[in-house]
Amino acid sequence: MCELSSSMGERRRRTHAMLFPFPCPGHINPTLKLAELLHSRGVHVTFVNTEYNQERLRRRRGGGGELRSREGFRFEAVPDGLSEEERASPDRTVKLYLSLRQNCRAPLVELARRVARCEGVPPVTCVVLSGLVSFALAVAEELAVPAFVLWGTSACGFVCTLRLRQLRQRGYTPLKDESYLTNGYLDMPIDWIAGMPTVRLGDISSFVRTLDPTSFGLRVEEEEATSCARAQGLILNTFDDLESDVLDALGNEFPRVYTIGPLAAAMHGRGGDRANGHGGPAGLSLWEEDAACMAWLDAQPAGSVLYVSFGSLAVMSLDELAEFAWGLADSYHPFLWVVRPGLVAGDRGTDALPDDFLAATKDRCFIAEWCAQEQVLQHGAVGGFLTHSGWNSTTESIWAGVPMICWPGFADQYINSRYVRDEWGIGLRLDEELRREQVAAHVEELMGGGDTAKEMRRNAAKWKAMTEAAIAPGGSSYDNLDKLVDELRQDEADAKVTRGR
Ligand code: UDP
Repeated sequence: MCELSSSMGERRRRTHAMLFPFPCPGHINPTLKLAELLHSRGVHVTFVNTEYNQERLRRRRGGGGELRSREGFRFEAVPDGLSEEERASPDRTVKLYLSLRQNCRAPLVELARRVARCEGVPPVTCVVLSGLVSFALAVAEELAVPAFVLWGTSACGFVCTLRLRQLRQRGYTPLKDESYLTNGYLDMPIDWIAGMPTVRLGDISSFVRTLDPTSFGLRVEEEEATSCARAQGLILNTFDDLESDVLDALGNEFPRVYTIGPLAAAMHGRGGDRANGHGGPAGLSLWEEDAACMAWLDAQPAGSVLYVSFGSLAVMSLDELAEFAWGLADSYHPFLWVVRPGLVAGDRGTDALPDDFLAATKDRCFIAEWCAQEQVLQHGAVGGFLTHSGWNSTTESIWAGVPMICWPGFADQYINSRYVRDEWGIGLRLDEELRREQVAAHVEELMGGGDTAKEMRRNAAKWKAMTEAAIAPGGSSYDNLDKLVDELRQDEADAKVTRGR
């Protein structure tokens, strides 16, 4: 495990960041991009997966080339503590969260100490975590190094999560009974969140929708967000111009916020696709990417295709799947639809698509189980994105200049879609209760070239240009990454002074 460590280049890297994301794509992808960016700025990187994911990545495409360690960049793994039975259960993400909390602190500390014993490898000088693994703040404390949290949502999503405690204390949530979900209560305007426009209560977070005073989700979200205050700095995958008001307000609570996103764009901006040695954009894809969809896109006219994907975690009912399927069929536009294994309740995927839908759309649709989403969104044939409004997907779409149709369902996805539609003017939103007529109408509105579509495309082009400006040398995200690296170096220097005393 130590063989990579003894070259000259390695010895020059004295700042050593150990990064540990929550083990799902929405956390792994941005954390890996951050790791690559830090490495490109001369930081020694140890990227920690769970053993289960590491093995899954190795098996995929026989060998897991993406996991190749190289000078100053190594992949390591710790056990996640889940049994096979827990892994197969419908609430496996909750089980994983609890298991990591319970089982991973000591292995992470041990790992940090072990890698530092390798010849030429500097001691770990800082720990970088994604959201949902705040237990590992204690790892940094035990190692006596600073911790930084890469919170994976928008700044507005983070601020909304921070305010869940007040919403609970002021009695907005939990809801009194089931009827509050549909009686207009969730439309109540909330106008007291600093830095944010008036928003619907229901848009603040999915976690306000609970009837349970001891709601696990609500408690975890609150705890995870507030615990970021224990970190030395907060890193956000956004850029200043995109969320200036909310970032100004956040600065009053969190003095060290580093907005360095969109990470997908920043990574690409430094030539990451070629430089990372992974043969593609920085990502550890837990599912096989369907390469044939790119060839299919090549054969489609520019801007004609609607890309449809609901990320790595969303689960929809069979009825919802049918509403989407028939809405897409009735819209008569070509589409590329990612139907991930497990997207449909009952651990189902493409097998749940109605046969007559497949027959009706076979000449203008491509169904993939997973794809290289960033490349898909950047493809000239893609003109729109039907999305669950996960933050990575949203930023990847903003960077590509592709307007969206949003169908949020979890956590920050509601507030992201509120901003996409109303603040940035680059999307439409479906009602929570899905109807195929509305799906078809929205697809037509987005892809059909009417005035609304033109306006959204103009706005999307503007935000794309602002994204490029933010990540270019002299741009806010570029400069903030430099500041973050300076901060990490400073901490390393401070640690040396303390050790020398
Ligand atoms: N993704 C992908 N291929 C797909 C679907 C999604 O690579 O077919 C990636 C996507 O590019 C994004 C991540 O999976 O980086 C999903 O993250 P997001 O925050 O949008 O949603 P989550 O999965 O966390 O709900």
